[in-house]
Amino acid sequence: MQEMTSDVVVMGAGLAGLVAARRALELGASVVLLEAGDGRYPANSRYTGGVFHVAFEDVTAGPTVLLDAITGAGGDCCDPELAGAYAAHAGRAIEWLAANGADFGQGGDFPWMSRMLVPLSLREPGFPNHWPDKGAERLLERLARDFTEAGGEFLRGWRGRSLLTTNGRCHGLDATRADGEVLRIAAKSVVIADGGFQGDPELVREHISPRPERLCMRGAGTGRGDGLKMAAAIGARLVGLDRFYGHVQAAEAIRDDRLWPYPILDILASSAVVVGPDGRRFTDEGKGGVALANAIAALPDPLSSFVIFDQAIWEGPGRAFLLPPNPNFEERGVAILRADTLEALAEAAGLPEANLVRTVTNYNAAVATSSTAQLDPPRSSRADTLSGAARPIDGPGFMAIRLCAGITYTMGGIAIDPSARVLSRSGSVIEGLFAAGSATGGFEGGPDAAYLGGLARAATFGLLAGETAVP
Ligand SMILES: Cc1cc2nc3c(=O)[nH]c(=O)nc-3n(C[C@H](O)[C@H](O)[C@H](O)COP(=O)(O)OP(=O)(O)OC[C@H]3O[C@@H](n4cnc5c(N)ncnc54)[C@H](O)[C@@H]3O)c2cc1C
Repeated sequence: MQEMTSDVVVMGAGLAGLVAARRALELGASVVLLEAGDGRYPANSRYTGGVFHVAFEDVTAGPTVLLDAITGAGGDCCDPELAGAYAAHAGRAIEWLAANGADFGQGGDFPWMSRMLVPLSLREPGFPNHWPDKGAERLLERLARDFTEAGGEFLRGWRGRSLLTTNGRCHGLDATRADGEVLRIAAKSVVIADGGFQGDPELVREHISPRPERLCMRGAGTGRGDGLKMAAAIGARLVGLDRFYGHVQAAEAIRDDRLWPYPILDILASSAVVVGPDGRRFTDEGKGGVALANAIAALPDPLSSFVIFDQAIWEGPGRAFLLPPNPNFEERGVAILRADTLEALAEAAGLPEANLVRTVTNYNAAVATSSTAQLDPPRSSRADTLSGAARPIDGPGFMAIRLCAGITYTMGGIAIDPSARVLSRSGSVIEGLFAAGSATGGFEGGPDAAYLGGLARAATFGLLAGETAVP
């Protein structure tokens, strides 16, 4: 067994971990940064679209506006103290990043795209290889280089496995390498930043979907719940494990990289109806793509649902967003079912004809009388960033696409306080243990799978963890 000592050890070198490590070093601590991957290691922070927003609000809008956006989007699911800290420090985190190598530009027409990493990852030729040498990868490389040049120890190929504790205080961790070598690092503070548990099928089965193998991994898949298990083993509280951030995708995305991680069907699906294998609606499509993806994942067979729409929706919402399904799906071989009647569409999709016709007829009547809230299940209708307003499905040209849920990162995780200190099941602070980024819970999720912005959250709480963890 190899042994090392340092003031701070950070586990995971995505954005949250790199920011925490770099910041702790900047404040004078000795820091070891452990990364399970090697070389150009996969991480969501490398593959990201790169928009720093807070609940689809401009991240520089100031604490009052950001707090409104967080509480508006998250309802009760975001812990009020965490919401306050997120709103208060997000702008500072952006400034810190800009001073430490982040290159931001206006990513699109929306105000929430005012801080997007450039070069932009989505607009360049070469799609779907959207990420190499784009803004996010450049930022990771820059943070890593500055960290090592300033004296930090960056160890790749080491996977954190267990925490060291004495009398309830955390004082280091054990890590292993692929060859079985063990490394013990004694440290005054440990920061967990391993990116969530979407890459662990058993945890996903337990909390999110009965058939994890029938979800599309929309991200790196390198968050395997190690931090969650390590923290739980020493008494940490876990919160909100039943929701994930993801999008609605075509079923073919599960095996075809040309459909990874875009295009997504969120706006199309929330403008139309989504039915299960019985031809009936099973969720409120109007809540938007993230909530829809969660509902699809929870089906007994997550590959059994269809979006039902018509040519007018295909030409409208089907062409919305950065990389829309129309025309990209046809170019990439997605099966788009078309028929002149709903009966014929039901037959093509293998759905019960009478049920599908009834579902669409009832839905159309509700749209016509603005009474979709009376449908069963109720149907909301709003047009915003990732959802479209309910539109009638009355032809000509009825269409269907088989769906799948794309999982990007899990929203729940280790409970922390506003300074990124890990909380125990009794609510007290676990001394010496910190967490940041998608490894943490208490922000997002709830019944509507509220999404508050993964990158801004990783940067903000990475910064706070780096500051608080310095002994
Ligand atoms: C395609 C895509 C588009 C996205 N677009 C956006 C966007 O536009 N805006 C936005 O806000 N968010 C977006 N996100 C989400 C955002 O990228 C993430 O929320 C954010 O990057 C999470 O950062 P993190 O540091 O917590 O996790 P990660 O970046 O996943 O980093 C975790 C790291 O920990 C390492 N690790 C795991 N286990 C261990 C272990 N046991 N020991 C050591 N290391 C370990 C992993 O290998 C990984 O490198 C997107 C994500 C994807 C995939």
